[in-house]
Amino acid sequence: MERIVVLGGAESGVGAAVLAKVKGYDVFLSDYGQIKDEYIKTLTDWNIPFEQGKHSEELILNADEVVKSPGIPGTAPMVKKIREKGIRVVSEIEFASRYDSAKKICITGSNGKTTTTSLIYYLLQNAGLNVGLGGNIGKSYAYQVATEHFDYYVLEISSFQLDDIYDFRPDIAIITNITPDHLDRYDHKMENYVAAKFNITRNLREDDCFIFDSDDAITIGHLSKIVLRCKMLPYTQEKEVEEGAFVKDNKIVLRYDKQESNIFLEELALGGRHNVYNSMAAALAAKAAGVENEVIRQSLSSFQAIEHRLEPVMSIKDVLYINDSKATNVDSAWYALECQKRPVVWIVGGKDKGNDYSVLDDLVREKVKGIVCLGVDNAKIHEAFGGMVSRMEDASSADEAVKKAAAMAEAGDVVLLSPCCASFDLFDNYEDRGRKFKDAVRNL
Ligand code: ADP
Repeated sequence: MERIVVLGGAESGVGAAVLAKVKGYDVFLSDYGQIKDEYIKTLTDWNIPFEQGKHSEELILNADEVVKSPGIPGTAPMVKKIREKGIRVVSEIEFASRYDSAKKICITGSNGKTTTTSLIYYLLQNAGLNVGLGGNIGKSYAYQVATEHFDYYVLEISSFQLDDIYDFRPDIAIITNITPDHLDRYDHKMENYVAAKFNITRNLREDDCFIFDSDDAITIGHLSKIVLRCKMLPYTQEKEVEEGAFVKDNKIVLRYDKQESNIFLEELALGGRHNVYNSMAAALAAKAAGVENEVIRQSLSSFQAIEHRLEPVMSIKDVLYINDSKATNVDSAWYALECQKRPVVWIVGGKDKGNDYSVLDDLVREKVKGIVCLGVDNAKIHEAFGGMVSRMEDASSADEAVKKAAAMAEAGDVVLLSPCCASFDLFDNYEDRGRKFKDAVRNL
């Protein structure tokens, strides 16, 4: 019996281990850290041997193949040893796709993945298709392949999951956009990060589709260096395209298979220029999956905002509080600021990932009247924006930040949590930060 060793005992790794078990492999899972109780329970229920707090070489280096969780960098010492022994290392999605014949719509990119993925899932559900949602959202792809049967999958895929794929092939691949993020995992080289994202296209065949933002300079730059044989479906807000999606006269125009259809921008449920991009990407994916125009139009206008993504919390004394805790990099905060029509009191800061804040200068000068810095070390935010706004304060909890922002805001303003930064200095994760923000607003 072949032996599969899974490294990492969270959603992705445990899903892969369950699938390997179902497929009759001798499975072992090893996590160098602690495994959460819910995953220990799954492993126990499925009778899968595992270890935590260590990597035992004698139990790992006898593998025929290793499935590496995306959270573990390729440079981890154990991964190096495995490769040195000539054992093949694959990602969870590579492993799972061997046992799945569903059509796959796969979304990667720096920003907009979750929104676009959720939109597509909603569109396909409304079209009555038997569709699963997975990857970085909800249950892992591998776990669903082990336990469910779907005709379609909509999968949100991070660049880390694309690092170790060989034969993984989406039917429809989407790159939402590419801006610097996670460069620490790519030798601080942008081209490595771009190449990792483009891995999603490596196995595309002639009948498959590649959907991409043709206003994104980095995407276009990379496309000019490679050859793709699949159907190309660009979307843009800057010009007309022969096939794909573009904006004209306040409408999205979809051109696919020599047909044209329209959706009014004001019908879109999700506001902001970035969501016009996400809506176009989702509409093209739905077209490519054969969904009817009317279903696309209705779905894009009835979709509900997703938690932590420009999520309106409530209005108090005509001040609107918005939770955009998921904006963990500069580009996403740019879009959040860009779509604000009212004066903004901006809550920003956290764990800085080497941000260059200067691209926000114009927007901050134009829209932001006060800043509350929410982080352990706020020096970079003070340095970047100190001279641009009349009021600037520091806070070290969501409660304190909301109180200080409320004191700065006047009727007609927006208090926007769009932090540009990771949350780990003060919070468990961005969800924790967003929920604490919402609780603090509700307690005002
Ligand atoms: P991801 O899953 O890639 O992190 P999300 O859909 O969760 O992306 O959105 C994260 C944040 O990024 C949102 O709060 C929003 O401010 C911003 N954003 C969403 N879509 C886009 C886009 N197409 N381009 C740039 N920024 C975006």
